[in-house]
Amino acid sequence: MKLTYQSLLGIIWDQKFTEISFSHPMIREVSKARIREFIKLAKEKLSFIEIRPTQANEEDLLMVHTKEYINLLKESSKIPFMGFLDQTDTIHYPGIFNDILLVLGASLTATKWSKFYDYVYVPLGGFHHAMPDRAMGFCPINDVAITALKLLEKGEKVAIIDVDAHHGNGLQYILYDKPILKVNIYAYDGYFFPGTGKVQEIGEGKGKGYNINIPLPLGSTDDVFEKSLEILDIIEDYYKNPSYILVIAGVDGHKDDELKSLEFTTNSYNLLGLKIRRLKKYSNIIAYGGGGYGRLSALSMVSFLEGLMGKKTSYEPVTFSNDKEKIEKIEKIISRFKSSAYLFS
Ligand SMILES: [Zn+2]
Repeated sequence: MKLTYQSLLGIIWDQKFTEISFSHPMIREVSKARIREFIKLAKEKLSFIEIRPTQANEEDLLMVHTKEYINLLKESSKIPFMGFLDQTDTIHYPGIFNDILLVLGASLTATKWSKFYDYVYVPLGGFHHAMPDRAMGFCPINDVAITALKLLEKGEKVAIIDVDAHHGNGLQYILYDKPILKVNIYAYDGYFFPGTGKVQEIGEGKGKGYNINIPLPLGSTDDVFEKSLEILDIIEDYYKNPSYILVIAGVDGHKDDELKSLEFTTNSYNLLGLKIRRLKKYSNIIAYGGGGYGRLSALSMVSFLEGLMGKKTSYEPVTFSNDKEKIEKIEKIISRFKSSAYLFS
């Protein structure tokens, strides 16, 4: 009898996750529904072990955020009604500070357990817009930046793969001069939120050459996304064997997302999972749910995890671009990165 090894998946889970959302009131219920639906669907379709998160503490926030901003979060948490942290789209509500510490704790707990699992998934995580001194884009804190810096401090070699409809501007800003590989894939036309993420932004100081931006034209389809994933060869060919790979697998690029920008289907997220699986080798892998505000967000998350576990699934027909130029443009950007002399210099 031949024994086959099945990958071990851990999901950081606390029932409170189903009640937490920092999103604009218009989209808040959709965000919560997605997490509720996700855990239900995950239990139906996947085999995994639930890992309880340990709450983070205030000092952990100081790794990235200013004392003044942390105080603002604490004060906002005491206000008995809902309001905005950033005037536009990130809310505060009574007790938000504890939720923030729980969400950050989820990411930090994942680093502790990742050695014992093939993959650890944090469904409520990947708040990549938050800046050191302010909230932005539904993100009160930058959990992945804090986690990556803590790992770097311990001498770990870290790579971040940030896939989401929106550019991870906060993550890029905070880690811009750090020797942590950051690969960002997102929708870009110069205006679409947050409007940042030029190809020329390659990092600075010790982080020069470590920031890779792959902007996708708005309306990009599954085949364009597949092409963009070729950038991940960089990890196999140049940035070899990182000890940790943190993956934001945001699913808001799905064609039915309420913040519509891309034309991806669940197939794209399944493919992303399969590609990340190929990078596994010696790395600890932690993945995050990122953004997702559509009727198929939960299924997209599960499709990603199925890919991680080595299962190819297809719940919708693949979308194709009728514009060859889109793919050629991505191809050009990728080949420029692959041949560039400044990579990790
Ligand atoms: Zn997003």
